[in-house]
Parts: sequence; structure tokens; C-alpha cells
Amino acid sequence: MRATIMDEPLTLPLILERTERLFADVPVVERRPDGAVHRADWGTVCRRVRRLADALRRAGLAPGARVATLMWNHRAHLEVYFAAPAAGLVVHTLNPRLHPDELAYIATHADDHLLVVDEGLLEVLAAFRARAPFRRVLVVRHGATGALPAGCEDYEAFLAAGAADAPFAAVDERAPAGMCYTSGTTGRPKGVVYSHRAYVLHALMTSLPDSIGYSLRDTVMPVVPMFHVNAWGMPHAAALNGCALVLPGPRLDAESLLDLMETEGVTLAAGVPTVWLGVLRALDAAPGRRRLAEGLRLVVGGSAVPEAMIRGFDRHGVTVVHAWGMTEMTPIGSVFAPKRGFAGLDEEARYALRATQGLPAALVRMRLVDDGGRVLPWDGRGRGELQVRGPCVTGAYHGHPEDAESFTADGWFRTGDVATLSPEGYLRIVDRLKDLIKSGGEWIGSVDLENALMAHPAVAEAAVVAVPHPRWGERPLACVVPRAGARVTAAELRDFLARRFPKWWLPDDFVFLEAIPRTATGKFMKRALRARFRDRFRGAEGAP
Ligand code: ADP
Repeated sequence: MRATIMDEPLTLPLILERTERLFADVPVVERRPDGAVHRADWGTVCRRVRRLADALRRAGLAPGARVATLMWNHRAHLEVYFAAPAAGLVVHTLNPRLHPDELAYIATHADDHLLVVDEGLLEVLAAFRARAPFRRVLVVRHGATGALPAGCEDYEAFLAAGAADAPFAAVDERAPAGMCYTSGTTGRPKGVVYSHRAYVLHALMTSLPDSIGYSLRDTVMPVVPMFHVNAWGMPHAAALNGCALVLPGPRLDAESLLDLMETEGVTLAAGVPTVWLGVLRALDAAPGRRRLAEGLRLVVGGSAVPEAMIRGFDRHGVTVVHAWGMTEMTPIGSVFAPKRGFAGLDEEARYALRATQGLPAALVRMRLVDDGGRVLPWDGRGRGELQVRGPCVTGAYHGHPEDAESFTADGWFRTGDVATLSPEGYLRIVDRLKDLIKSGGEWIGSVDLENALMAHPAVAEAAVVAVPHPRWGERPLACVVPRAGARVTAAELRDFLARRFPKWWLPDDFVFLEAIPRTATGKFMKRALRARFRDRFRGAEGAP
């Protein structure tokens, strides 16, 4: 017997057709690079997407050709996000914060055919264009006119060549739609190619009420850049659900974000912890000054969310939802949701649970595997490497079909994260395999120490890294950024940690810094700290 259901392909045009029919009047607001706020709606966006898709087709790009972007979060970026896949092409987002060498490597590796770039990022482009394969470069000028640099075309003029009622290409759901490189926190960037099907399933799966849970009543603001893993799927999910969308442009300081959140009535925003730590500090400095939407939720992930941050936002009536994910997972892998019985827990336990990375998302399978290759039970204690599989998880890297280091023989993706899973299914990321501190044959997790340090009132930020030690192999070093105006000593911090951790976990030393170096996606760059303090414990003796 055969199933009798239609084999309708799961593609982005399927989403767009509904968006333009049902949600044409729903606002899409952007703050352009010059700071001006412009309003449009999904109807305008969809018409322009049709035009751009048609113009791209007329430009004669071969199916699957790469359309790269070098842009902040704004409407033109959104247009390319949908138009390239809707024309049977692949949108490849480039991260303007990367080093020019890295951008040249990635653009070449992906063989990017056409680039759409912000006028304000032409300088970034100039530093690597000669080494990149772009055949054409379109510049988004947000209404500005005047001469363009040689070899560049105007995005608006290009788009105007397409018809606003052109049909979308008939694409296969397994066809490539988008592409993204890992941010290279732990090594050379590797490319992941997303299918239409993965985008649609990801949008559905993150829309579930106990996942991110989008609603047509939401006003959604992706602070996470659109060049970072599909902005966690927010543009797709916003289109699918008919959410109003607020695109904040390049200004991501706390006051600029709070201005937009207040004036646009944002109900759901997403970004990495460092962005929200800044926002929390601003709220704390002037409690009650901002009129934020009731029920405002912040989806926070990309690195571990300190419990102190969840508590801090609760004081302002803002709910932090912790999520975990990876470039390789489109990217959402888990989201926190309270199960039955949560309300009956005491306050400590409730916050401890909310600081976990949450429950495995729908359609995501997880297992923990120890050093010996044994699959561990979900008992909340056994720590092992987290392995995943699912219809939104990459099965290979672009240009590296065989990668035994990243994929197991039985078809699971190795996340490189060490984790525990509780019997209830709550995931706790202990550390990245490469960031774990190996002291005397035992493992110390840096994330727990960092989160504990960031709960100290005088600490703004903390990163704990492994430093080679003559006796123990490695020992933890804490790099601490004190809060403005606060004073704190190493001895105080040591005592503070000693209340929560065994003695051998306590950092051997504390260094006080003005800032923690960051990667292009805003994560602590522990590689840089490890290199800088490599010799800190050289010649050290004694027991920890
Ligand atoms: P990169 O590995 O280059 O940083 P990604 O942006 O794909 O690229 O990052 C994925 C990694 O980020 C995960 O493997 C994990 O180590 C870390 N991560 C993401 N979200 C969280 C989170 N909520 N808690 C702890 N770690 C996280």
C-alpha cells in the first residue's frame, strides 16, 4: 500500500505565498545603518522578493549558484534571504566582523557568484574583494545616490529589472537554499548547506508553543545577526507565523536596542548573552524608565546563559528563555520549557532548571557518548559528548563529504559539546570538549565556574580557561572583568567560589581585565586567552 497524501515539497515559496496572502499589512520595520527607522510591511517585502527573485533569474545564475550577503539586519537582507532560495539559488551570509583573510577563504570555498553588500561595508569588502570570486557586486544604499565604486551596481536598479508578480521557481524541497560557515571558535570555518525542507521544518519546529513559540501577535526582533546561522531561524518563522518583524541594523548597544524595543513594542527578541548583559545593566541603572511590552521574552543562546542573568531580567518582568544550538543544526537544538511540576519546585531549583539548555527540540534526537564509545543513560550525572541527528542537522560539511571526526559511523553528528541529560530530558552543556580543563586526570568544566563568578555582584564578566601546569597538566585561570566602579580581590572571589565548588576546581589564579576578547559572533575567545596566559603557571608547584 502507498500513502495517499500529496507530496507537496516543503519550500520557502510555500511559506511566502501564505505570508503575502494573509499578512501583507503586518509591519516589517528596519533601523537603517544611518539610524533612521523605516516602516514597510510583509506585502511590500513579498513583492520585492518576487522582483528580486525574477531579476536574479534574468541575471542568468545557474541553479544552486551562491548569492552572498555582507549586511547587517535590515529589510534588503531579508529580501535576499527569501529571494535567492525562491529563485532556486543559495543565500550565503558572510560575517563582516571576520578577518579579510577568513572572508576571502570562505567566499572562495563557497564559490560565491554574486554579492549583495551594505554601502557602509564597502571598506570591509575592499580588503578581500581581489581574492574573492564574486562576478557581480550589488550595493544597498538605502536611498542614497551618487557614484558607486568601480565594479559595483546599485541593488535597487538590479531589483527593478524583475517583475513584482513573477512566479517563484518550482524548487525541490531537498535543493540547497542557504549556506553558512561555522564561526570558527575552535578551528577553520566549515560550510553547512541548508535545504528548503530543513528551513521549513525548522520554522515549524521552533514555532511550537514550548519551543520559541511564535504567534501572529508577536513583534519579533532578531538581534542575533542575520549572518549568524539564519538569525536562529527568526526571519523564516516570522514569515510563517505572520509576526511583525523589527530589524535593528548595525547599532546593537543597549540603549539603541531598548529604544526600538520600547517604540516598536517588541514581544520576542533573540541574541547572545553578551548583548543582553548590556541591556540588563542599562535596565538596572534606571529601573522602571523603559516601558517594555508586557510578557516580553528574550531567547538567549550561542553561549551559556548565566543564572544571574535570568534572575536579573525577572526583576524587570522580562523572561529569559535559554536555548542551545549550532550552525550545523539550522541552528536550534534545545529550548527551555517548564514541565509539569515546575511550579512546585523551590526558587533555587526553578532557577537552576531555567539555566539548563532546556529540552531537546522536536525532531532532534540526542544521545551522550563517553570516551569509551558507550551510550550513557539520561541520569543527569553521566557526562559525555552530545551527539545529535534529525532532519535539520547537517550530514556533512560542504566540500568534505567524508569527515569521520565530526560524524559517527552510525550516522550521528558529534557536537563537540560535553553535556548531561536529566531523566526529565533537560540538557546541560558542561563545556566544549576543547575548553574542558584537564587537571590531574579529572575534568573541570569552565562554564560552571564562569556562571558562578558572574553571579558575584562585583563581576561583570568572567571567562575561565585551561593553562598548562607542570604538575597537574592543566589548571583553571579565571579572567575577570569587574563591574564599573566595583572593587574585588582574587581572595574574595576564591572564597566566593569555595562555597559552591570542591577545592580542586578553584582557579589557581585570577587576572583582572578591562574586557574579554570576543569572536566575530560575540562569544568569549578562549583561544586568545589561552595563548596570552600560556606561561602563567610555568614553574608553579604545589597542590591545587
Ligand atoms: P562556533 O562553534 O564556531 O562558535 P556556532 O555558532 O555554531 O559556532 O556555535 C555552536 C556552539 O556554541 C555549540 O556547540 C556550543 O558549544 C555553544 N553554544 C551555543 N548555545 C549555547 C548555550 N545555550 N549554552 C552553552 N553553549 C552554547
